[in-house]
Amino acid sequence: MTLEELRASAIQCQACALSVRRTHVVFGEGDPHSPLVLVGEGPGDNEDKTGRPFVGRAGQLLDKALLDAGLDRAQVYITNTVKCRAADWSSGKPQNRPPTPAESLACRQWLLPQLELLAPKVILCIGAPSAKNLIKKNFVITKERGQCFSCEYAEIAIATLHPSYILRNQYGGSDGGYALLVADIAQSWSAAQELSHM
Ligand code: URA
Repeated sequence: MTLEELRASAIQCQACALSVRRTHVVFGEGDPHSPLVLVGEGPGDNEDKTGRPFVGRAGQLLDKALLDAGLDRAQVYITNTVKCRAADWSSGKPQNRPPTPAESLACRQWLLPQLELLAPKVILCIGAPSAKNLIKKNFVITKERGQCFSCEYAEIAIATLHPSYILRNQYGGSDGGYALLVADIAQSWSAAQELSHM
């Protein structure tokens, strides 16, 4: 199975209720040969509309952090824990929400083969749901971000703060954790480079 064949199957998925309201399945994009794969939480409104990961406000901050870490987003592959937008529609106006454990579990049928095909040296989990899914269930992002963990789908996995969390925490002159995001990206890239040359 190729990545494109996997994408073709994923865009037909109806394994969970997120499929009902989605516009696009956001499968992932970037360099499939990159030694570094970023795995976020799940698409928001802009991603659902465009079919591309991290293109809204959080995505713009991620792009800036990648640049500040010396990278262009085309040098990495970016995907998400769940491929369809998770939102609460009860008020009529959709409010983004984290994917439930059941939704994350249902989407592992796409994420795991995707990671096997990409075979990265390093996975950078963006935010707690991704780290809980790929590193360990009880991952504590504020304590364990920036550390190297063993992982079934890469030689190592590292987790970092989610850009949406950083945006919410940027007040009163605080960078909200932005410098940590840049440092974690730089560390992940340098580990990926080192492991590629071993
Ligand atoms: N947040 C994510 O976790 N992923 C996206 O693609 C966009 C926002």
